[in-house]
Amino acid sequence: MKQTYLESELFCIQCLDHTVHKITYVNNQITKVECEECHNILEIRVDIMNELFKESYNRVATKPSRVTKEYREDLSHFLFSLPIRVMTKPYRVAKDIKGARKIIKDYKQQ
Ligand SMILES: [Zn+2]
Repeated sequence: MKQTYLESELFCIQCLDHTVHKITYVNNQITKVECEECHNILEIRVDIMNELFKESYNRVATKPSRVTKEYREDLSHFLFSLPIRVMTKPYRVAKDIKGARKIIKDYKQQ
């Protein structure tokens, strides 16, 4: 789960002019557009927990088929590489959840 920002010139309905807007994305979905002049915020409601669930689910769901495919292709290579995969996988997921927690916290403050 990642949050990114983009600055773009858009027409602000409060300033009645083209101003710089800060656009916030969560997983490539626009969640917030803020005018840098008057700080008028246009929020797009996204289900943040659903986004997180979808992401975690996809990651877990795609794993068994990948393992099976590798297992069929080369048994000895699979067995040799397995402990490294088991070690690296939970680390990557934990890192993502930590990032998501911060994003959820940011959303609760608004
Ligand atoms: Zn404005």
